[in-house]
Amino acid sequence: MLPSPCTDMTGNLTRRNFLAAAAAAFVRAQSAPELILDIHQHVLYNGRTKDQLLAHQLEHQITTTVLLPGEGWMLPILGGNRECAGFQAEHPGRFVRFACSDPAESRTPDVLRGDIRRGAIGIGEMKFHVAVDSPEMRQIYKLAEGLGVPVLIHFEYETYNTGLERFQAILKAYPKVNFIGHAQTWWGNISAELDPLDLYPKGRVKPGGLTDRLLSDYPNIYGDLSAGSGLNALTRDPDFARDFIRRHTRKLVWGSDCDCRDGKGGGIKSGQCLAAQSLPLLRKLAPDTAAFRRIVHENASALLRLKKS
Ligand SMILES: [Zn+2]
Ligand SMILES: [Zn+2]
Repeated sequence: MLPSPCTDMTGNLTRRNFLAAAAAAFVRAQSAPELILDIHQHVLYNGRTKDQLLAHQLEHQITTTVLLPGEGWMLPILGGNRECAGFQAEHPGRFVRFACSDPAESRTPDVLRGDIRRGAIGIGEMKFHVAVDSPEMRQIYKLAEGLGVPVLIHFEYETYNTGLERFQAILKAYPKVNFIGHAQTWWGNISAELDPLDLYPKGRVKPGGLTDRLLSDYPNIYGDLSAGSGLNALTRDPDFARDFIRRHTRKLVWGSDCDCRDGKGGGIKSGQCLAAQSLPLLRKLAPDTAAFRRIVHENASALLRLKKS
């Protein structure tokens, strides 16, 4: 009977096996997945199951995911505080979560305080029919200030958190609160020239846009690169995007906000996974690996005060 390559019959074979194993370990170490933090995901998103969400995040080797609950009108589309807390508990070490409640409801401070006491580490996604500088939102910022947590805001012209042009006053009034800007009107305003009704503007960016200025001038505002809006900001004018990323390397945080079923575009109309598009694009546009790592992990990890793993 011939000795199997794994047996110890000859010294040569053992040595060969040992070298092969060492080489394999070296290759594994070289290709060890980078730490990737997705700052924008939802459970039960447009009918996606919890198992599909897990598979989606594993497909992109995402090591930490921030679950953003919805509230009120959003609940038919995505999971709320309880669903996020339950899913986080089922998968220890993989997920963290924010807390959400409708700012127009008087119970909201109690809801947010309670959920943060039970382990939520931020407030969002705030996507309600209010002005960004309304008394309702100001009470959210005050609460965030007291609790020491960031607030993630969806800006959409005349729809959600209206009045981006007045947001500067909020950044000044709440210097201890870290804000995370998201969505169409936030990203449309990287350009100084914008039709506010055009939620996915194409073509060249005119330098000096409001979003660009806020990111430069205020230490307490970050840009969430998730969703079609974040991707559009990176694709519409690659030369501008490359420079924008270089200038705001420490202020951008990567997220997907993707609702596809499998991380490959399955189960959604576009057939395209946002993470599958934006991660390679960011790698290409970032000035170097260190900048890429900051955007896909380190900035958010520091912002959320996550323990180093
Ligand atoms: Zn979202
Ligand atoms: Zn996807």
